[in-house]
Amino acid sequence: MSVRPIYLDCHATTPVDRRVMTAMLPYFMEHFGNPSSINHVYGWEGEAAVKQAREIIAAAINATPEEIVFTSGATEANNLAIKGVAEAYFQKGQHIITLATEHNAVLDPCKYLQSLGFEITILPVQGDGIIDLNQLEKAIRDDTVLVSVMAVNNEIGVLQPLAEISAICRARNVFFHTDAAQGIGKIPLDVQEMQIDLISLTAHKVYGPKGIGALYVRRRNPRVQLAPQQHGGGHERGMRSGTLATPQIVGFGKAVEIAIAEQDTENHRLSQLREKLWMQLSQLEGIHLNGHPNLRVSGNLNISVDGVDGAALLLGLQPVIAISSGSACSSTKTSPSHVLMALGQPENLAYASVRFGIGRFNNDEEIDQVAAYFVSTVHSLRKQRSLI
Ligand SMILES: *Cc1c(COP(=O)(O)O)cnc(C)c1O
Repeated sequence: MSVRPIYLDCHATTPVDRRVMTAMLPYFMEHFGNPSSINHVYGWEGEAAVKQAREIIAAAINATPEEIVFTSGATEANNLAIKGVAEAYFQKGQHIITLATEHNAVLDPCKYLQSLGFEITILPVQGDGIIDLNQLEKAIRDDTVLVSVMAVNNEIGVLQPLAEISAICRARNVFFHTDAAQGIGKIPLDVQEMQIDLISLTAHKVYGPKGIGALYVRRRNPRVQLAPQQHGGGHERGMRSGTLATPQIVGFGKAVEIAIAEQDTENHRLSQLREKLWMQLSQLEGIHLNGHPNLRVSGNLNISVDGVDGAALLLGLQPVIAISSGSACSSTKTSPSHVLMALGQPENLAYASVRFGIGRFNNDEEIDQVAAYFVSTVHSLRKQRSLI
């Protein structure tokens, strides 16, 4: 039997936690009822399970259950937030502000709106990946309806200053949306304290199932109106029609419950593993850390390696380490990612970038193994190169 490579790609997705799986199982065959069926016990069971998960997820961000709209994931939540606000507030204005390092699930809905005649301002980031708040302030106009800035970057792991951004938005009566796909269960998110109006969430980055997420939509002070992007049975208070995916929703709730309960201890453990990895990798010459050194999520390490071809490095690492290239946003392209480009990195093929995403099921020995293999792979690639 072949040994599988060590998985360190937790920003792409995470395995389902066994406790999550156990919670989900009864809702496939036993309690399979449609939560909208109000006339029998099968429906009531489904409804009760969805209600409980909704309460857990709402509590995790200090929202009320009525403010949670279940979606198929963060991509759909981002689309609903951005297009939903744009359409609902069309009369007020048609200008939206976002950030150059956003996930494509934010940038692409914005580009789509641009094709319809909306104006989009894409703010650059500073060299460390953090937003420049002065630039944000200057970019807001009277016709700005939405600012969308992510909580945690999925490539370089940096944290954006959510409370400061929302204060600027509030002062100008502009809604603030944040894509927190990489943030839930990892960093504090409090819609009251941070005054956030819309938050996109997903389960599969926190050891829950794929295909389920949510959008938090503020209901008071002020109430956010959304134009639904999917029409049908009027589920989720009309904002997202479609039969609720009870097993996935139960899993999402359980995953969030576990992640919140273990957030502090797990962040501490992951930071130590990340430091251990960095200590060993930074012994190599020509290694650069991408993104802010401290304002970053605990399990993330994104580095560039001089004098090594990116494709060759990933190929060399493949048998032992499952990580993503930091230099290709889609695996078929070898062009640098829009995130690293936004940091002002040269479009230089003579370096490789990789993203490590350390997670719940990684341990000390794995990190040692990974570090040793990475270092020896870089050495041998550099040696080959010098021989050419
Ligand atoms: C993974 C991710 C998404 C997409 O989430 P899905 O649930 O897979 O649609 C969006 N934004 C960020 C920042 C992500 O990391």
